[in-house]
Amino acid sequence: MTTQHLNVPPANHVKVLDGQGWVGLIDHLGSEATIVNAARVSFGKLKTEMSDKDVKLLHYLIENKHTSPLEHLVFTFSIHCPLFIRGQWHRHRTWSYNEISRRYTEIDLEFYTPNGLRRQAETNRQASVDSPDFDSSAMTEEIRQHNLKSLELYNSLLERGVCREQARGVLPQNMMVTFWGTVDLNNLLHFLELRDSEHAQWEIRQYASAIKQLIKPVIPNVVSYFEAKGQVW
Ligand SMILES: Cc1cc2nc3c(=O)[nH]c(=O)nc-3n(C[C@H](O)[C@H](O)[C@H](O)COP(=O)(O)OP(=O)(O)OC[C@H]3O[C@@H](n4cnc5c(N)ncnc54)[C@H](O)[C@@H]3O)c2cc1C
Repeated sequence: MTTQHLNVPPANHVKVLDGQGWVGLIDHLGSEATIVNAARVSFGKLKTEMSDKDVKLLHYLIENKHTSPLEHLVFTFSIHCPLFIRGQWHRHRTWSYNEISRRYTEIDLEFYTPNGLRRQAETNRQASVDSPDFDSSAMTEEIRQHNLKSLELYNSLLERGVCREQARGVLPQNMMVTFWGTVDLNNLLHFLELRDSEHAQWEIRQYASAIKQLIKPVIPNVVSYFEAKGQVW
């Protein structure tokens, strides 16, 4: 039996945030055929492959928000992201989460350092704007130094006997965390609608877009429904 450290991306993953983060598809339960079987469960017949009629039914279910059959297809992802993105992600209550604990581990502490910074939007306090004249390289270096100083203080507190559960309070929001998230297709589509949107923060959009890439081979006919509506998958 081999043991793999969870901070390592799984085989099927997509890198995000300039390679500093990633999201991987660990596993999935069910297929598009599971969805149409669930929709027709009252007929007591099971199919293993999708016919044209099944694709039409699948599209009908999505179009008419007949969502419960979609809940029978379930995905598990492994996500490596900054703490501030984890905070946004965990607002999605229909996911189940488990995370590597800072109370048990002290290896592989990593911090996200953005390659470039965006300006604060003037009209919307939740938004940012890209501006080519914004020279952020010196500030990015300051962020990197700040991350390192936090790590030094954390290690120094541990060396002086402070418990991990209190010492971790000095680690910044840029700290990378790794967690598993499991969600059914219906709630995943809801997540993607909210987080692969221009209203969402750029960083979480990168994760949502990576998830779309990872699940596309599992749900080609669901994807074709959204693409026919003009949505980018
Ligand atoms: C662009 C953006 C900005 C945001 N800004 C903020 C912010 O400033 N502050 C802030 O606090 N949050 C903010 N949020 C988080 C937001 O309020 C939601 O908590 C988050 O998007 C999860 O959405 P959800 O509840 O629909 O998803 P889930 O929790 O996955 O729930 C999915 C659906 O299940 C149903 N559901 C789940 N739980 C319940 C329940 N207890 N009762 C009834 N129905 C339920 C609802 O229909 C819900 O839509 C923001 C989100 C986005 C996308």
